[in-house]
Amino acid sequence: MINSPHDAFRTYLSIPERMPRYLDKQHSYQVIDNICQISEEIDVFLFDGYGVLNVGKTAINGAVEQVNKLRAMGKKVYVVTNAATQDMKGLVQKYQNFGFNFECDQIINSREVMMQEFLARTSPEQGSIGVIVPKPYCRVTADYDERYPEDDSFWDADQFLFLSGNGWNQRLQERWVQALQERPRPIWVGNADLIAPLEQGVSHEPGSYTLTLDEPLYSWVNCYGKPYRPIFEQVLSCIARDYGEVEPSQVAMIGDTLHTDILGGAAMGFKTVLVTGSGFLRDMNVQESIEQARIYPDYCLTSI
Ligand SMILES: [Mg+2]
Repeated sequence: MINSPHDAFRTYLSIPERMPRYLDKQHSYQVIDNICQISEEIDVFLFDGYGVLNVGKTAINGAVEQVNKLRAMGKKVYVVTNAATQDMKGLVQKYQNFGFNFECDQIINSREVMMQEFLARTSPEQGSIGVIVPKPYCRVTADYDERYPEDDSFWDADQFLFLSGNGWNQRLQERWVQALQERPRPIWVGNADLIAPLEQGVSHEPGSYTLTLDEPLYSWVNCYGKPYRPIFEQVLSCIARDYGEVEPSQVAMIGDTLHTDILGGAAMGFKTVLVTGSGFLRDMNVQESIEQARIYPDYCLTSI
């Protein structure tokens, strides 16, 4: 079981073949004081949510002001998040409650990217779906026969959408793995993160229950969020829609997790900025972690 960022980090190191391939050319990074320091070379800023803009239910001190400063300079700003528990309406509301002013077309989340693919590649006639999400957020599609972990029929669902680790636990996981071993079925992962930082401790995200599945079950897992390419393709099409073509080197991915934000951003050719003070690495040795992961950001800062 993954109970800390240290555990999550070790887990990432143990599954390199499940991560995007990326050859780092550099072995150093530049430490900066704040995100506005790179505004001359960057046009588009992609902010991760948890660990960069907020921790749990609290906005990070000064983050709202920094995002507003970039906007005032004419910079383009998006949130690129693996959050999948809430739908887009809920996400916009969440960031508004924190004091950020993001419209829905400025938030790119892995749940939406996954749902687009799911709806494009499947149909309600293919059978029922088991949706792993807390009750208040249930009913994620219009036409599918949805079943939830509380229902006896959940275990016989023909496909699974794993949107949230909130409410899931080791006992349910063991039962699920057994059911999948008896009959493997497609697993659509809304949030590929292993953990997310909370004010105290961490939350277990769908990635911690799916990226770690043994083969052959892992071959049934479909991931769309960071660090995997689909969410970043969606980012590029949003940028093209809003501003036309932009060179990848003028785009910066800013995140707190080496194996999702930094790895995924670097694999796309974006500049990368690692935030160390409040997220995944807040209690870890940053330099040591970078060297162990062999994932080098372009820039490093404590807080945006
Ligand atoms: Mg994060």
